[in-house]
Amino acid sequence: MSREVDVAVVGAGVLGLAHAYHLANRGLRVVVFERTPVAQGASIRNFGMLWPIGQPPGKLYRLARRSLEVWRGILSSAGIDHEPVGSLHLAYHDDEAMVLNEFVSRFGRDYSAEMLTPAQIVNRFPAVRQDGLRGGMFSPVEVTVDARKTLAALPYWLQRTYGVEFAFGTTVLGYDSPRVETTAGEWTAPRMVVCAGVDFRDLAPQAFMQAGLVPCKLQMMRSQAYSRACRVGVMLAAGLTLRHYRAFADCVSLPALIQRFDREMPEYGRYGIHVLLSQNSSGELFIGDSHEYGNVIEPFDKAEIDDLILRYLHTFVAIPDLRIAARWHGIYVKHPTEPYVVAHPQPGMMAVAGVGGNGMTLSFGLAEQTIADFVS
Ligand SMILES: Cc1cc2nc3c(=O)[nH]c(=O)nc-3n(C[C@H](O)[C@H](O)[C@H](O)COP(=O)(O)OP(=O)(O)OC[C@H]3O[C@@H](n4cnc5c(N)ncnc54)[C@H](O)[C@@H]3O)c2cc1C
Repeated sequence: MSREVDVAVVGAGVLGLAHAYHLANRGLRVVVFERTPVAQGASIRNFGMLWPIGQPPGKLYRLARRSLEVWRGILSSAGIDHEPVGSLHLAYHDDEAMVLNEFVSRFGRDYSAEMLTPAQIVNRFPAVRQDGLRGGMFSPVEVTVDARKTLAALPYWLQRTYGVEFAFGTTVLGYDSPRVETTAGEWTAPRMVVCAGVDFRDLAPQAFMQAGLVPCKLQMMRSQAYSRACRVGVMLAAGLTLRHYRAFADCVSLPALIQRFDREMPEYGRYGIHVLLSQNSSGELFIGDSHEYGNVIEPFDKAEIDDLILRYLHTFVAIPDLRIAARWHGIYVKHPTEPYVVAHPQPGMMAVAGVGGNGMTLSFGLAEQTIADFVS
C-alpha cells in the first residue's frame, strides 16, 4: 500500500464511496479511511430506498435522477442486487388524495408518476389494505438496494475496478495539507474530502458549528425474511409521508392535511414519524421511521415510537405474521433549510454533509458535482 495519494476520503459511508468513485473515475489516486472495520453509520441503517420521488421539482429532482442513473450503472457492473420496483404513495382520506392528485396534475409527467384507482392497486399489490383506500400515486422510477450488502460490496468493487485503496479500522485524526494524520500513521494527500456523517463534528468542530448542521435520530425496524410468495412488489408510503418530503411542499392542498394530522395525530408530529416500507432481495421488510432533532442524541430508543410506527403501518398494509427481527436507530445530520452542505474548513479540505434523509438517493449525483468543483 502506497502512503501517497492524490485525494484522501474520510468515511466509507455512501457519500465517501460516491466521492471515491468519481475521483477515481477521473484517474486520481484515492484512499478511503474508515474508522470502523466495516461502515456502520447511517448508510447501513437505512431503508435502501433510492427515492427521487421525495425531491422537489427542478434542480434537486434532476440531481436525484442523475444520481440514480450512476447508481444503476454501478450496481449492474458490480453485480449487486437491486430491485427497480418503484414507489406507491397511498391515500386513505380525501385530503391525502387531493394532495396526490394535485401533485400528479402539476408534476406527474416530470416524475413519471400516475394515479392508480383502488382496484388497480389491490390487483397489482395485494398486500395493500383495501378498506378506505381512495387511490394512490405510482412512480416506476424508485429502486431498492440492501444497504448493508451494498455498502459491504462497493469497496471491493472500487478497489478491483479503480484501484481505490481502503484503510478500514483507521481513524483520521487531523489534516494539514498534504499531511494526513491517522491512527495508523501518516499519509500524504494534497486534498482531502470529509464525508464523516455526524462525526464531522469531531473532526472539524468549528466548521461543523458554522455549517449550522443539526443531528437527527431515526428509529427503524426490520422483519423476518418473507419468501418469494410474500413480495410486496413496490416501496410503500402513505399520508404522513406527504408532509415529510419537500416534493409535496408547494401543493396548495397540503396545509389542510397537515392541520388534520396535527389535530388528530399530534404524537406522530411530536416524534416526526412518517411510515415507509421497503423489502430487500432477501424478503426482509424495512419499516420506519421517526425524526428527533437536537445535539443531544439519547442512546435509548423509545418503545412508544416503534408502536406508533407499527400502528400506522397496519392502516395501509396487511402483512401476515409480522415479526420484528431487529430494531435500531441511525443518526444523520441535516441543515434546517439547505438540502446539503459543502464546506471548505481549511486549505485542501472539502467537507460534504447534511444530506439528511436523502443521502442514499443523492450521493452519486452530488459527489459528481462537488468533485467537478473541487478538482477542476
Ligand atoms: C434510519 C435512516 C433511514 C434512511 N433512509 C434513507 C433512504 O431510504 N434513502 C435515502 O436516500 N437516504 C436515507 N437515509 C439517509 C442516508 O442514510 C444518509 O444521508 C447517508 O447514509 C449519509 O451518508 P454519509 O456517508 O454522509 O454518512 P455515514 O453513513 O454516517 O458515514 C460516515 C462514515 O464516516 C466514518 N468516519 C467518521 N469520522 C471518521 C474519521 N475521523 N476517520 C475515519 N472514518 C470516519 C464513520 O465511521 C462512518 O462510517 C436514511 C438515514 C437513516 C438514519
